[in-house]
Amino acid sequence: MNTNLVINGVSVQGQAALTDVINPATEEVIAQVASASAEQVDDAIQAAKTAFKTWKNISDADLAQAFSNIAADIRAENAELAELITLEQGKPLGLAQFEVEGGASWIEYLSSLEIPVETIADPSGKTIKVYNRPLGVVASITPWNWPFMIAIWHLIPALKTKNCVVNKPSEYTPLSTIRLVEIINRHVPKGVCSVVLGTGEVGGALSGHPDVAKVTFTGSTRTGQRILSNSVDSLKSVVLELGGNDVGLVLEDADLDVVAERIFGSAFLNAGQTCAALKRLYVHESVYDQLTEKLVNIANAQVVGAGLNPETTFGPIQNKAQYEKVKGLITDAVAKGGQIITAQQNIPEKGYFVAPTLVTNVDNGIALVDEEQFGPVLPIIKFSDVNEVIAQTNQSEFGLGGSVWSTDIAKAEEIASRMETGTVWINSHSDLSPAAPFGGWKTSGLGFSFGLDGLLLFTHKQAIHITQ
Ligand code: NAD
Repeated sequence: MNTNLVINGVSVQGQAALTDVINPATEEVIAQVASASAEQVDDAIQAAKTAFKTWKNISDADLAQAFSNIAADIRAENAELAELITLEQGKPLGLAQFEVEGGASWIEYLSSLEIPVETIADPSGKTIKVYNRPLGVVASITPWNWPFMIAIWHLIPALKTKNCVVNKPSEYTPLSTIRLVEIINRHVPKGVCSVVLGTGEVGGALSGHPDVAKVTFTGSTRTGQRILSNSVDSLKSVVLELGGNDVGLVLEDADLDVVAERIFGSAFLNAGQTCAALKRLYVHESVYDQLTEKLVNIANAQVVGAGLNPETTFGPIQNKAQYEKVKGLITDAVAKGGQIITAQQNIPEKGYFVAPTLVTNVDNGIALVDEEQFGPVLPIIKFSDVNEVIAQTNQSEFGLGGSVWSTDIAKAEEIASRMETGTVWINSHSDLSPAAPFGGWKTSGLGFSFGLDGLLLFTHKQAIHITQ
């Protein structure tokens, strides 16, 4: 198992403190990773600066070939990559394989996009050409929930726009990212893509470095705020993809047989550890009992266990701190009158397991509803007036995603237009698209990712005014 950094195309051991990587299904240490020293972070950035001098001129054809090779290698190594993801992150192997395949497809989609050159006819008669030029060195900092996929969401747009990039994965899940950066390095010149390892301290050194032109960050709102304040002196471009507390609104005319599986699939995707998972479910009183019963049946049918076990459909929480947080939210909700309506399944004794948990008899004003649980527990709240629910839920400090579940699409679209979130899904939730901008409002983020618009945030605009 490789635990080295990759700097300037070379695999090197970190020179600072050791961190344990723990398998959340067994609580066993699976690797010890040495963190990057401040000097090594600087080395990676200087290597990126040097590499940028030639990488910024790579031809589109050569870039497309490199992406095609990277995607092919990822597919060829799907089994090993998925096993690493399951070992370090916990998710069932099938979901890890989906994460790897999804990453390869994402690369192919980005490769197919063309960076535009816009021509503007100025009223005075001159022509203006607007180019999108690369920025230089991008710093990328990634979380532990979808470690491989989110690294691809950062690294590939940076490279596609001809920047060089240095990533720091979460200290909880560095292994699959190291492997990804090794694969990328087979197909790009040295220094173009590096990885440094360690905790938030290393993240701070990387994101605050004066030679970094842009920081792309996915993680908690608190860390995002720190990164933003560190970017002020050198006026870095910053994109923050942060936490959420997504609302799902089930209207009286929803097709319950169709939507129950989809609602469960979103709320409990990756054991609920997904930024844009459905995290608060509001159901119209006329269909509340029926939908709740269906969700309970789906939850109780899950097989909770280690992700490497082929029977498992539901993995552990990734780390102890998050496990304690989720258990605390459940205990608090029950103390305030909440009712757990799912079965108390037998779960493995070791490991950070919490069975999928549905909680009723709760309302706004308790932590399970108001905060981001980021784990396998869903509060279900009854409503009678949709206008009241929208007004209440819009008061949230978060604004990542939301959903409306209805067979009346026009009505659902009208309701969607009143939700204060960067994305609203109708009859689905959390199914992200590489083609559409994705980003949070309020404390859920700054800027956005994906689609051509997200890609262009990795560039400077340069307008060339031509007078004959
Ligand atoms: P986190 O903020 O604790 O850590 C994220 C990364 O930031 C890690 O690599 C960590 O080492 C690093 N870091 C910590 N302190 C830092 C500092 N001061 N400077 C620079 N880097 C620092 O988040 P997490 O617990 O890994 O992830 C869970 C959170 O991420 C949840 O809130 C979730 O909603 C959010 N998330 C958001 C999205 C999205 O696209 N909006 C996607 C996935 C996860």
